[in-house]
Amino acid sequence: MAQTVSVKIVSEDKVITIPANMMLSTKEEALMKAGMVWGALWVLMIGTIFIPIVHFIAPPILIFMGPIAGRIVYKMFADKQTLKLETTPPTCPKCSASIVLPSSLADWPVHNVCMECKTSFSAEY
Ligand SMILES: [Zn+2]
Repeated sequence: MAQTVSVKIVSEDKVITIPANMMLSTKEEALMKAGMVWGALWVLMIGTIFIPIVHFIAPPILIFMGPIAGRIVYKMFADKQTLKLETTPPTCPKCSASIVLPSSLADWPVHNVCMECKTSFSAEY
C-alpha cells in the first residue's frame, strides 16, 4: 500500500521539497515472511536428523527456534512504514551535497548535520 507524500528538508532559511512514496507493509506480507523463516528452520531441522551426532543437538533446538524466529520476523515487518524518496539521493538545501535520510518512519522527523557544510537540517513529511 503506497501513499504519495512530500518530504520537506529545511536548513536555516532554505527549503527543498521532494516527492516520496510512503509504503505500509501489511500483516499478510509480514505473516508470509515469518512463515518462510519458520519453514526454512524446520526444513533445516529435517535435514539435520540424518547427520550423525548433530542429530542429538540441532533438531531439538530448531524445532523451538522455528516459531520463535517466525514471531521475531513478524514483529519486525508487521505495520512497518517505510519512506522511499523519488529523488535519490536527497540534497542539502544550502550546499546541494547529498545527504542520507532514514527509510524507516520510526526515525522521523530527522534532525541531522550536513557533512559538507556542517549546517544542521531537519526533514519531515
Ligand atoms: Zn550542506
